[in-house]
Amino acid sequence: MTDAIWSDPAKLKQLIELFDSGVTVQSIADTLDVSRNAVCGKIARLGLKREKKSPEAKPTPALTPAAPPQPAPIVVAAGASPTFTPRPISASPVGKPVSIIRVRKNQCRAPLDERGGDGLTMFCGAPKLAGSSYCEMHHGIFHTHRQH
Ligand SMILES: [Zn+2]
Repeated sequence: MTDAIWSDPAKLKQLIELFDSGVTVQSIADTLDVSRNAVCGKIARLGLKREKKSPEAKPTPALTPAAPPQPAPIVVAAGASPTFTPRPISASPVGKPVSIIRVRKNQCRAPLDERGGDGLTMFCGAPKLAGSSYCEMHHGIFHTHRQH
């Protein structure tokens, strides 16, 4: 007699939809306001199975220890020197650091990572290379690392 519940095609459709959506039999029974047994019985008679969503699509739980993640390869940008790390520029051993107001035209203008007593940026101050704004050492640094 329980099958009489399903004489309503709307209800039957709802049963199938709910079942397909993966809710529990109990939820279907509650939603349709029928007994759980009625739902179970109808599902069995309809031959509904919860295998529509292919199990292969689901990520299978790893039963064996997964391979350790590969360390990301260290990408060195093309053209960049792999050994270059930004670090404070040190004064040339040749020159004596001078402040911005003291630096002369023939002196290296590489800003140093140190400050003068008045808080002004200090410049290298070593004799400039011909055709460069910097001494030999800083010319080398800037032309090695600042060129594209
Ligand atoms: Zn210099």
